[in-house]
Amino acid sequence: VSPNSIETYAKDKLSVQMVELFEACQQQMSDLTWKERCRAQLQQDIQRVYAAARLYLTGSSMNGLGCRSSDADLCLVLRGKKTPNPIHVLTALQRLFQSVSYVDRTQLIRAKVPILRFKDKDSNLEFDLNINNTVGIRNTFLLRSYAYADLRIRPMILVIKKWARHHQINDASKGTLSSYTLVLMVLHYLQTRHEPVLPSLQRDHPDCFHPFLDVDVIPEGPKHIPPYVSRNQSSLGELLLGFLKYYATDFRWDNMVISVREARAFPKTNSKEWRNKYICVEEPFERNNVARAVHEKIKFNAIKAQFAESFRILRERKDLNSILPVRAII
Ligand code: ATP
Ligand code: MG
Repeated sequence: VSPNSIETYAKDKLSVQMVELFEACQQQMSDLTWKERCRAQLQQDIQRVYAAARLYLTGSSMNGLGCRSSDADLCLVLRGKKTPNPIHVLTALQRLFQSVSYVDRTQLIRAKVPILRFKDKDSNLEFDLNINNTVGIRNTFLLRSYAYADLRIRPMILVIKKWARHHQINDASKGTLSSYTLVLMVLHYLQTRHEPVLPSLQRDHPDCFHPFLDVDVIPEGPKHIPPYVSRNQSSLGELLLGFLKYYATDFRWDNMVISVREARAFPKTNSKEWRNKYICVEEPFERNNVARAVHEKIKFNAIKAQFAESFRILRERKDLNSILPVRAII
């Protein structure tokens, strides 16, 4: 079977609602064109200070999982003899941006990966810029390859991101799940079905996702991956319900680590990445815990409770509106 239309997986009401929400919210070509124009302009302005700097769009703007309302993530790559201090660079950029007419409201955020957050005045679009966090470029193209490996992936993930945001469990700065963590959790669910919906792309195509590929060839690698043909023919609605059920009742949070790299969950070891962590999700390239923001028991319980509650309601009602007010979101 090689169905080439999403309608194949959307014959019931819940699945149709998912496709409709996806089509209404997914990032448009015009959105990406605008982001790309900003990127090029910013790169040109930054090169006045850092002549060899290169700016890359990452995150959901590029990985096929973006909404019209998604921010634009940027990675500034500075190569040199010395590794630059990101805070110093971001402070210099903050000063530079004060003289750049289209940038507004810059804000330096001193997180583990420090970022400069700012807005594009014309579009009010938000940008998050980091320095040399090139793993973000690698995993963006890995996620992009998963997003396009099967027609169901993009609608499924967009709906789940909207669901998580609506229920306030999608904000790493508030101790809940980052979008990136949530996406890896969905991919893991799809990889571990009895008939997998997705394989491990890193296992099947190691050369395309080699962790030392030069940043400029990263986007080229995945272009040669043939589409994955799954024997799993579940509808979108079945997959959404199954995803909620998996994390509400099946997944062993206390002793398992989610690994999209290996397409399985493996037992927690005593290493510091996993020890005393409520949720363990492995970064596919760097092998640290992308869910480390969830460090309060109360937030962890709220996340689990949301999976359980939404599963209970959706199983009963089979209507997307019962867990996500679609009209208010579109
Ligand atoms: P949204 O549409 O909500 O903005 P997003 O896909 O852009 O979602 P974010 O969580 O904002 O997701 O992360 C943006 C990008 O930053 C990710 O796609 C990934 O490339 C990178 N990233 C985020 N968190 C991590 C992490 N813990 N380790 C490595 N890379 C990360
Ligand atoms: Mg983003």
